[in-house]
Amino acid sequence: MRTVYLDHAATTPVHPEVIAAMLPYFNPMYGNASSVHGFGRKGRMAIDNAREIVAQAIGAQPNEIYFTSGGTESDNIALMGVAEALREKGRHLITSSIEHHAILDTCAYLEKHGYEVTYLPVDVDGLVSPDDVQAAIRPDTILISIGHANNEMGAIQPLAEIGAIAKAHGVYLHTDAVQSFGTLPIDVNELQVDLLSLSGHKIYGPKGIGALYVRRGTRVRPIQFGGGQERKLRPGTENVPGIVGLGRAVELAMEEREARVEHMTRLRDKLIAGLTAVPDVTLNGHPEKRLPGNVNISVKYVEGESLILSLDLRGIAVSSGSACTSGSLDPSHVLIAMGLDHLQAHGSLRLTLGRDTSEADIDYVIEVFPEVVAKLRAMSPLYNRLEREE
Ligand SMILES: *Cc1c(COP(=O)(O)O)cnc(C)c1O
Repeated sequence: MRTVYLDHAATTPVHPEVIAAMLPYFNPMYGNASSVHGFGRKGRMAIDNAREIVAQAIGAQPNEIYFTSGGTESDNIALMGVAEALREKGRHLITSSIEHHAILDTCAYLEKHGYEVTYLPVDVDGLVSPDDVQAAIRPDTILISIGHANNEMGAIQPLAEIGAIAKAHGVYLHTDAVQSFGTLPIDVNELQVDLLSLSGHKIYGPKGIGALYVRRGTRVRPIQFGGGQERKLRPGTENVPGIVGLGRAVELAMEEREARVEHMTRLRDKLIAGLTAVPDVTLNGHPEKRLPGNVNISVKYVEGESLILSLDLRGIAVSSGSACTSGSLDPSHVLIAMGLDHLQAHGSLRLTLGRDTSEADIDYVIEVFPEVVAKLRAMSPLYNRLEREE
């Protein structure tokens, strides 16, 4: 059976060149990068090289990049680390109601420990309003955290405008750029962000590696303790193969960025047109201000979970919302925040394309999708009742 992977927002296949770059660092170059001998020095050099690549990709300096275990950890260090460092200045944070759970759950933890969090709403397209950010800032606000692009419905936030507001008020701005990094051009000075999270496995790198950008002079405390690695902000023996893999993945992303964007945008728009041609199927998220690889739809009178399972039987891998909440039957907090009702939110489907998605993949999905929807609707009591009434 044909298989089509359309879940690149959950994770991506590791690029063969990334694997090739990593392999020597498992063996023979397995030294601990903190060791003084030759084995150690080879690891250290590889880390320094990767740090330069990541820094250059976002217009930062190498000493502003800290390697972490991924997007989740970067988000945790950013929020908890700033909260801890600035607790005497204030205990108020601003974020949005559509953030990834790595942000929302960290905010919930902070709320239990004496901090206050404002969750900004979004409009029907999933966009945060810079005016709302401005209005939410208080004298005790210490951090604003707004994701660059949403992992569920792909909306791209007006981050530079938010950055200007944060700067004018002297409040730090963090962004979770896990979904946008490698696809959208990112310059930390143009966006005026002080902290930025990124992850390896969303850009054809390995899982379990990521980075946090921290602008020089930004106050942030570590949230774990041990050795002196990553200038004590993220102690623990460095994941040298992972860091090398992240570096190579970033290099490839920068080389291929424009070609990837063009390829994914064209196929995405073809997929959107094909899927929304089915009656009662609507697109969620801003039609233009969205990630090149993201399609999010609501299919009325059908459960998202049934759709996923039926498509999986036909070899098509998609998801509902984020991989982290799949398995729970709660409707997406993102779609609910955009004002969708529970029926629409429950019938939502996310299809995310990648550099390896082909035209034939998209044609196959467009062919199979109407059959699967028709079959499921035929079994839906609600749909049948409405049909009889018409
Ligand atoms: C995947 C993802 C994360 C988590 O990154 P990990 O490297 O898997 O921990 C955080 N934020 C967003 C927006 C993501 O898409």
